[in-house]
Amino acid sequence: MQCTQEQLDEGARILKRSRSLAVSTGAGISKESGIPTFRDAQTGLWANYNPQELATPQGFSGNPKLVWEWYVERRRMISDVSPNPGHYALVDLEKEFDEFTLITQNIDNLHRKAGSKNIVELHGNILRFKCFDREHPIEQLPDDDRIPPRCHCGSMIRPDVVWFGEILPADAVMKAGRALETCETLLVVGTSGVVYPAAAFPAQAKACGARVIEVNTEISAITPLVDVYLQGPAGEVLPKLVETFRAL
Ligand SMILES: [Zn+2]
Repeated sequence: MQCTQEQLDEGARILKRSRSLAVSTGAGISKESGIPTFRDAQTGLWANYNPQELATPQGFSGNPKLVWEWYVERRRMISDVSPNPGHYALVDLEKEFDEFTLITQNIDNLHRKAGSKNIVELHGNILRFKCFDREHPIEQLPDDDRIPPRCHCGSMIRPDVVWFGEILPADAVMKAGRALETCETLLVVGTSGVVYPAAAFPAQAKACGARVIEVNTEISAITPLVDVYLQGPAGEVLPKLVETFRAL
């Protein structure tokens, strides 16, 4: 099933009436680029470990070498992956609005790779690092034989992603909240609508008067709330939505 031109027109008209746009993206948009999900990546050597061992602070403390190498492997898996037309359509949309915030749950860096500028990474970024003990940001990994390498303070270095059981970075949550309160339209792309806090974004934006457009291959938990539901892959629907918007 794919959305109709009438539905695209309706979405484009909502965008046209807005000066500020917030976008919330989830795994769906990355999946179309071929980014393996956490589960997909758990093959071979990693098949016997569970998320508690690979993606929690306790897992890292217990076996830092294992977790470090798992993330080396995951970075390797995503390094060749390219953004898809859905990511590029969001780059185009950013240029059309006075205020634009892209809030993503994805850690794969694809929005940056595509060229989006004002990005809030709720779950961090797998290409960034920080130290485990004090969260010192690590600009460049030290030339260090130790696995994992160490921060100048002596702490182990870890990926700057949000692990299970960790709270989201406060600055990201604050920026996302501000964007949701002030946007006139919220565009939700490829999210399941069940992972909080992103699952609450549509209701939050609507409570502040925004219209909500959803792009998704399947009906999600938030679909009943949205003003326009555009069914289909983001890589196909978003370029059409931008084209329709520009033709208005
Ligand atoms: Zn440190």
